[in-house]
Amino acid sequence: MNQNPYHVALKQIEIASDLLKLDPDILEMLKAPKRVISVNVPVRMDSGEVTTFNGYRVQHHDARGPYKGGIRYHPEVSLDEVKALSMWMTWKCSVVDVPYGGAKGGIVCNPKEMSRGERERMTRRYITMIYKLIGPYSDIPAPDVYTNSQTMAWILDTYSQLTGYRVPACVTGKPLNLGGSEGRAEATGRGVAICTREAAKALKIDLKQATVVVQGFGNVGFHAAVTLQDMGCKIIGLSDSQGGIHCSGGINIIEAYNQKESTGALADTVKCENVLNKELIELECDILIPAALGGVLTKDNANKVKTKIISEGANGPTTPEADEILEKNNIMHIPDILANAGGVTVSYLEWVQNMNRDHWTRKQVNDKLEDKMTKAFKDVHTLSNSKNITMRSAALMRGIGRVVEAIKTLGIWP
Ligand code: NAD
Repeated sequence: MNQNPYHVALKQIEIASDLLKLDPDILEMLKAPKRVISVNVPVRMDSGEVTTFNGYRVQHHDARGPYKGGIRYHPEVSLDEVKALSMWMTWKCSVVDVPYGGAKGGIVCNPKEMSRGERERMTRRYITMIYKLIGPYSDIPAPDVYTNSQTMAWILDTYSQLTGYRVPACVTGKPLNLGGSEGRAEATGRGVAICTREAAKALKIDLKQATVVVQGFGNVGFHAAVTLQDMGCKIIGLSDSQGGIHCSGGINIIEAYNQKESTGALADTVKCENVLNKELIELECDILIPAALGGVLTKDNANKVKTKIISEGANGPTTPEADEILEKNNIMHIPDILANAGGVTVSYLEWVQNMNRDHWTRKQVNDKLEDKMTKAFKDVHTLSNSKNITMRSAALMRGIGRVVEAIKTLGIWP
């Protein structure tokens, strides 16, 4: 069974706390979220029966700005997972220096077995139950695993109906015709690729000779793969929830995409051999991108990983024990709170455009994303080198350090 993600998040904060010599009172404050919302969401299914789903919204900390974080629909969502993800959001927003705090939402459900109508009714009812505690100035949701721009459109509409007027800034990752931003859909994958490029530069790896394996072929995995392919890399492994494909000569991403669109799975893509997800992680490559779920790099497989760079598209893919092994094996390991921060960065840009009733070009958005990501990578990499600590410890130091500064400046009232 996977390690509890909240325990992983707590272990990480302890490590950073030692490095930052944190005041124990502040450490205690940061270990638990400020607010946990738990709701039971009744949904009329197509059969006429009513099914009740557990839903959560966890608001970790808002010292640096409104809460921000995605909403996940998955059978394995748990309160502890949502708490961990909300904490990582707090650090992530701080690492890339966007003025947000951290939150996360989730519903325990299997969206693959639900109709579009059932997913819409579940989304709208969930938002109805939490809408007083979210909003453009307080907590702004976004897409995550098995939610997308359509889900965000339902959230926008439900929130606006309940408020009495249109509030585009209440959610990010919306469709373009409802105030979404150019470049948001690909932002997380693009950010992963930018960090990977910077890491390759630091290690003097030529991207044009580099081989890449990507686990997860959803929003993040697909766009990371496409962007790295555009940068000259050869993608030799890909996977989805049902398994993976391997081709040492290079996979044509568009062919793989078409295969998944037409059959529902990557398996049997032409010129590729099928592999298990477990085998995919252990393929020899220059760059490994976990971009699916958490807890996939553990003490059991970390020693079998044969790569030079790991760029964490997913949230929480590595356990602390695996972190230690990968560090000993000298792998450049770009942590989630840096590598996948492109999504929240462009979500912030979307929110700024909405607040100003503005719409920027893709180039404007991508230039700002490039600037934020390269700056954050350089900052964390320099700190990691100067203190002789891992990239994760450096990112946590930077992320948590800024939040602590904000808490101290605000003070505790009353
Ligand atoms: P998604 O729903 O678009 O895609 C998820 C992908 O993972 C699918 O291809 C699915 O088949 C695959 N998958 C599911 N279970 C798997 C398994 N056991 N093994 C291998 N593959 C599996 O989700 P996404 O938005 O791409 O999110 C992926 C990861 O990136 C998550 O950890 C998420 O928290 C993180 N993330 C997403 C964003 C974002 O903007 N969407 C931002 C930051 C981080």
